[in-house]
Amino acid sequence: MHTTEIDHEVVVIGGGFSGIGMAIALERAGIPDYRIIEEGTGFGGTWYWNRYPGVAVDIPSFSYQFSYDQRSDWTRVYAPGAELLAYAERCAADHALYDKVQFGTRVTGATYDPDRHRWQLETSTGERLVARHVVDATGVLTQPKRPEIEGVDDFAGVTVHTARWDHAQDLRGKRVAIIGTGASAIQLLPAIAPDVAKVTVFQRTPIWCLPKFDAPLPGVLGWILGHVPGAKRAARLVSQTFVELQFPIAAHFHKPLGIAPLFEKSARRYLAKQVHDPVLREKLTPKYGLGCKRPSFHNEYLATYNRPNVELETTPIARITEHGVVTTDGTEHEIDVLVLATGFKVFDPGNFPKYPVTGRGGVDLERWWDENRYQAYHGISVPGFPNYFTMFGPYGYNGSSYFNLVETQSHHIVRALQHARAAGATQIEVTREANDRYWAKALSRRSRQVFAQPSCQLANSYYFDRHGDTPLRPSLTIETVWDSRRFPLSDYRLETADAAVPVAAPAA
Ligand code: NAP
Repeated sequence: MHTTEIDHEVVVIGGGFSGIGMAIALERAGIPDYRIIEEGTGFGGTWYWNRYPGVAVDIPSFSYQFSYDQRSDWTRVYAPGAELLAYAERCAADHALYDKVQFGTRVTGATYDPDRHRWQLETSTGERLVARHVVDATGVLTQPKRPEIEGVDDFAGVTVHTARWDHAQDLRGKRVAIIGTGASAIQLLPAIAPDVAKVTVFQRTPIWCLPKFDAPLPGVLGWILGHVPGAKRAARLVSQTFVELQFPIAAHFHKPLGIAPLFEKSARRYLAKQVHDPVLREKLTPKYGLGCKRPSFHNEYLATYNRPNVELETTPIARITEHGVVTTDGTEHEIDVLVLATGFKVFDPGNFPKYPVTGRGGVDLERWWDENRYQAYHGISVPGFPNYFTMFGPYGYNGSSYFNLVETQSHHIVRALQHARAAGATQIEVTREANDRYWAKALSRRSRQVFAQPSCQLANSYYFDRHGDTPLRPSLTIETVWDSRRFPLSDYRLETADAAVPVAAPAA
């Protein structure tokens, strides 16, 4: 016999900033019957898992925070990871989210029951949860990717991935290899180079590195932000404008405006100033246009290569042995510690989504996306998957601060949920027509984006999926905010199941 009971009106999967922001939005909307399921043992997501030396954010702290919970005591323009973790924990405590979370639990599967309009969730603990609605807030860059290199498991010394740093390991006086030159490696290298005996960086594709306008924030600024009316708002406005120019405008309006080449010019000049050896400089110069893959920002990364104990190796890796890394020219680089700064699964199987999601008619979301290309209405809802919302879906993120994304997507989701509640509906599903309209609009803007440059083929960029699509939202932030408040509610179809549990009346 089927039960009509549900455990929670909403289950939020993930306790990073997106899960925290979603939970706060539910609280504020008067939807208190929700539960957060989090794999880690604490809140913080990215900042809970990524604790390698040097970890910090690349977006100014004035923007990398909730608009409704702005701090005035950030210690730097770009906050270090530990401070962001503390901020996440404080937000969760301030909004009483510790009472609503279940830590140490991973969702392993989600199946929709179309008769009773509810999701059944399987978890790593064996517990089953039944929810009317599910919000996936698991992020994208979360599952560490080990490189597909022969012998990677044979190394006899210490192997560590940047996203699972082991602080028990003392690197002082050790010979270290770093595989990868993405944003994680860029922060790690300058942080460890002064302490290690030698560090060899194995670079496959160079990265564009720009200076970071980072500096400690004096206490007096904190006082001004905390006490002078309008100061926080002014700081945020300047910061948001800077961030908007750096990515959404530069990337999505590449063709009409051509800002990315200006950044590229300044990155070349910066490289020339930082690295003295012309051969080394050439090796560090990307062959693809800036913007094809995520650039990085650091004030010491490039100059670190001038140190006598730092070596850049660009000969491809042939294999890894018990003793170290062998390159295709036959050289064996003997090491004590192997650091995999090799990033995360993105469009790899099992990541998007991170657990099997089975919608109406037994359709698997990952397979549906693979066969139909990535698409989701406002990056949130997919036809055939009623009552399921995702914070990081395709064509949702426009490249500005993640906090903009979290606030706009949670606003959209709450608006949809309230719409269903007001009508007494137990199922809400985006219409195919609305989804197709949104997707067509996103695709029609592709030709003006920075990703359309032919040189992007040389970038090895995780922005591109196997169809050659870049499922970032080609919009300015203001448009994403507007959309979340103004999307036609008729883009969602409502239904009420006889066997379903009635939902509570909408909050005032
Ligand atoms: P990533 O950008 O994906 O970089 C991975 C690196 O490993 C690349 O250089 C890649 O080379 C290399 N690699 C992978 N497999 C390899 C193999 N088999 N052989 C040789 N090299 C290999 O990863 P990440 O640095 O961890 O950064 C991921 C993302 O996380 C960033 O783009 C950013 O969005 C975020 N992040 C942000 C911050 C911040 O805000 N400050 C810090 C860290 C990370 P190829 O380029 O040739 O593939």
